[in-house]
Amino acid sequence: MKEICVIGVGYVGLVTGACLADLGNHVVCLNRNKEKSENLQKGILPIYEPGLEEIVRRNLDAGRLSFTTSYDEAMEDAAFVYIAVGTPSGDSGEADLAHVEAAATDVARRIHNPLVIINKSTVPIGTGDWVADIVREHMPDPDISFSVVSNPEFLREGSAVYDWMNPDRVVLGSTNREAAERVAELYYPLHAEMIITDLRTAEMIKYASNAFLATKISFINEMANICERLGADVKEVARGMGTDQRISPHFLGAGIGWGGSCFPKDVKALAHMAATHGTHPQMLRAVMEINYDQRKRFVTKLRDLLGGLRGKTVGILGLSFKPNTDDMRDAPSVEIINLLRYEGAGIQAYDPVAMENARRALGNAVTYCDDPYAVADGADALLLVSEWNEFKQLDMERVKGLMRHPVLLDGRNIYDPERMRGLGFTYRGMGRGYDGEGGVGS
Ligand code: NAD
Repeated sequence: MKEICVIGVGYVGLVTGACLADLGNHVVCLNRNKEKSENLQKGILPIYEPGLEEIVRRNLDAGRLSFTTSYDEAMEDAAFVYIAVGTPSGDSGEADLAHVEAAATDVARRIHNPLVIINKSTVPIGTGDWVADIVREHMPDPDISFSVVSNPEFLREGSAVYDWMNPDRVVLGSTNREAAERVAELYYPLHAEMIITDLRTAEMIKYASNAFLATKISFINEMANICERLGADVKEVARGMGTDQRISPHFLGAGIGWGGSCFPKDVKALAHMAATHGTHPQMLRAVMEINYDQRKRFVTKLRDLLGGLRGKTVGILGLSFKPNTDDMRDAPSVEIINLLRYEGAGIQAYDPVAMENARRALGNAVTYCDDPYAVADGADALLLVSEWNEFKQLDMERVKGLMRHPVLLDGRNIYDPERMRGLGFTYRGMGRGYDGEGGVGS
């Protein structure tokens, strides 16, 4: 059993704290919001993440996991401190490190035993050295030893607990190899491949990984746009490509593109770092541009189909940035809905779990529905935006019967075009053969 403090109880911090406790460690999770902390102590979670509540409650009951807002309490016995706070985009696309700085300063002021500080937040290259400087500046006793280890996280929201417990690899970077190896011991029960590097390389692995995945999606989206002009089906193209082991089938789903709390800010931050260090990140810029164009292209498709958007009622299925999460950060739905509203369309929408966050992001200008059929009711078009499982087996005959015009725009290519057309829908996917000419009129 190790004594561990985790700072931040978001998707990464809470999952990390709960999973480390589940591996038998004693974990205190710290955040600054008293109500959040008190709720967590009762097993009430601030986020939706499949399987997380169960693991939090189990470890609360076992006395291995607790929550506090007090740094003194959280750090009392800690030998390891994880920093898992947010690193959102700053004004110029750079990562905003204000939360990391605050956490590092608060930790430094309370160091009273040898400590390993583990940076789990996604942070610009060089941040580990900067955190070490902050700690040196603020620690009360300069003779106490400490090390900083970069340990980027690769979990996916929606399967975060599984991903944390079954990582493809654990990356650890430090100027102090012994400290990195001590952190590696925390992960031994996971039997994962350990990659131990220097600090900066570990920080770069995280950005390069996210940028590569975002690139793969933008690549297939560009292929989808070409497919539409040339009469090919990108879903089959992706299948044909993905069976090649050098390519792999993952992240080859064409659609309205990526969003969420990581890819947009991380690709932007990497491009910013590159540009401010004298390189020209032209591929990263193209990757971002293609992604944002997909959202606009989706709206253009609908406008063309309906012969204009003013006065039209548009139903939206799925609001979260992807299925199985309530996270609305940089969700494509927000930009798509804003573009539609700007052109005069009325919106009715439904999401299985993100409705509360969606209300915060979109306000009252959207009619929030209780289920997918209410979204279809009286709609001139239905847009599939996030591919939740429950949308895959809808009673599409009922859906069609409820709509004013049976226009179906499938932003994630989850429906079979032939079947949908057979049911009488005007169906459009993303990159699935010729898109057809003409609209359905008004
Ligand atoms: P989040 O916004 O869900 O959570 C951040 C948490 O940090 C919140 O609980 C917030 O209250 C807390 N916090 C901020 N400043 C604090 C401080 N000074 N002291 C204590 N608590 C503080 O963010 P997240 O999605 O968990 O992401 C955290 C980091 O992990 C980011 O750098 C992100 O890029 C990275 N990451 C996220 C994911 C993901 O899927 N969400 C995956 C891999 C890496």
